[in-house]
Amino acid sequence: MNDLTWTPTQVRRLKELGVDLENLRADFSTPVERNKLFQQIEKKQVKKEKARLKELLTKAGKTKIETLADDLTCVLNQQGFVRVATPIIISKSALAKMTIDEDHPLSRQVYWINEKQCLRPMLAPNLYSLMVDFNRLNHRPIRFFEIGSCFRKESDGSRHNSEFTMLNLVEMGLAKEKRHDRLKELAAIIAKTAGLNDFRFENEESTVYGTTLDVVAGPANIEVASGAMGPHPLDAAWGITDTWVGIGFGLERLLMISQGDTSIGKWGKNLSYLNGIRLSL
Ligand code: ATP
Ligand code: MG
Repeated sequence: MNDLTWTPTQVRRLKELGVDLENLRADFSTPVERNKLFQQIEKKQVKKEKARLKELLTKAGKTKIETLADDLTCVLNQQGFVRVATPIIISKSALAKMTIDEDHPLSRQVYWINEKQCLRPMLAPNLYSLMVDFNRLNHRPIRFFEIGSCFRKESDGSRHNSEFTMLNLVEMGLAKEKRHDRLKELAAIIAKTAGLNDFRFENEESTVYGTTLDVVAGPANIEVASGAMGPHPLDAAWGITDTWVGIGFGLERLLMISQGDTSIGKWGKNLSYLNGIRLSL
């Protein structure tokens, strides 16, 4: 075995082009030999990726994340959930009702646009506000969900985007003893619709929600969702007394796992990738 292998720049380029490095020769006798092979592989892969991009732009009509959002909307509609769309800009007071005040760790992750408003780091404050209004109706259950952008300043890039797409559903008015099973049932419906067969439930401690029921998936046990149920300590700030279950999934994480990827970059909102395809071709 020779010591000479791919340069870090070559590895980066091959990865962004989606080359499977595990099954690629990686030791060479001379740089010339290595660079020649690199150029051959790069050229071939660029051609392949250009064909995929053309296919997307001329035939597919929809990106994978859009298809996922549509499929999830369809399945949730069938389950009696109504899709809502609420503002991306939220107030400081709505965040404070989630206990996220200036001393809270999550507050450092919030993008403030002025002293009183920020980009929502989660859908929950707006969904809580709707729960307050829906609570005045006397029919039960009440089922609704939102799919939309959330924003957080994050340091770990491989599983986090500063802008990501959250799906958060809420079902109000279930019998207390049915909440746990229902939460799992709903989580499984979403995970399966997203093409995840290999997922598990875990109890986690959250600084906002207390103990959450998380869904983790894939060989690396990556969190794809966090669920909670009420009555919950946060409910008092909103004046909610009803029972509820709620769960929030990250769509880019679902996509990353269903595509067998270990990094979220290709699936997030950015100008370097579209539908997992590197655009510098
Ligand atoms: P993590 O601990 O992995 O940072 P979290 O527990 O802070 O996630 P939650 O607040 O529970 O995240 O959000 C619900 C879901 O939203 C997560 O399970 C994940 O799928 C997704 N999510 C949260 N933050 C991000 C992010 N920065 N980028 C992509 N997806 C995210
Ligand atoms: Mg979580």
